Amino acid sequence: MALEFKGVTKTFDLPGGNVLTAVKDITFAVKEGEFVSVVGPSGCGKSTILSMTAGLYQPTSGTVTVSGEVVTKPNPHVGFMLQKDLLLPWRTIIKNVEFGLESRGVAKAERRERALFELERCHLKGFESHYPHQLSGGMRQRAALARTLAIDPDIILLDEPFSALDAQTKLLIQNSFAETIQDAGITTLLITHDLSEAVIMSDRVLVLSERPGTVMCEMPIDLPDRAHPLKRRQMPEVHQHAAEIFSLLRLDQRAA
Ligand code: ADP
Repeated sequence: MALEFKGVTKTFDLPGGNVLTAVKDITFAVKEGEFVSVVGPSGCGKSTILSMTAGLYQPTSGTVTVSGEVVTKPNPHVGFMLQKDLLLPWRTIIKNVEFGLESRGVAKAERRERALFELERCHLKGFESHYPHQLSGGMRQRAALARTLAIDPDIILLDEPFSALDAQTKLLIQNSFAETIQDAGITTLLITHDLSEAVIMSDRVLVLSERPGTVMCEMPIDLPDRAHPLKRRQMPEVHQHAAEIFSLLRLDQRAA
């Protein structure tokens, strides 16, 4: 099992002695190479789940396990990508991709070789010497993916990485990410507000309730072509799944 949450509850102490329960009794597992999306209303604890997987927060109760080990500190085997690409503007694209390897003390020649490999895999061959401002938003996100892959993660956590892109770029980048991630065989957890995106990208979708977030439903997406979300978009089942998730979320909102 690549990733497992067992009975995880996370509370935050607020000023004035109040306690906020972000997520409650979360249990789910993600197999190696699986792509799982997490959807749910704002504030239901999606980012908290990613932060606990990355070891940035500890659960208040329950356990989070990555590759069989309980996560107790920031985990070097977990790559994190956000809506903002966070590329360093003063470094070239290849130097950005090498950054994580540099801080891990990887020798120069090996750094360069791995960065070139990841840039080619992310369709950025020829852009090594460009600076981030010379690339489009979609290309910058691909460079950020190359940087994340360069550290050879067991798991990639994606926190709404496509939400700042325009509609057409978003489709192309979803496709390019899906292909690259499937090719690399990496276990992935994606947070998104876009229900269709969750369905076209994933093997499974976790639907969370209003805060405190609990798992309302784990929906398997038994469709072919996970590496080609653009193809999946044409399938009528995608719209049925997205509509089902929407109904679940709306029912939960009414009940709240
Ligand atoms: P989502 O990603 O689903 O929008 P978050 O995981 O960001 O939700 O937040 C869940 C809840 O926990 C929110 O009410 C948020 O305000 C709260 N929260 C998150 N991080 C902290 C923190 N460090 N301290 C206090 N409250 C927090």
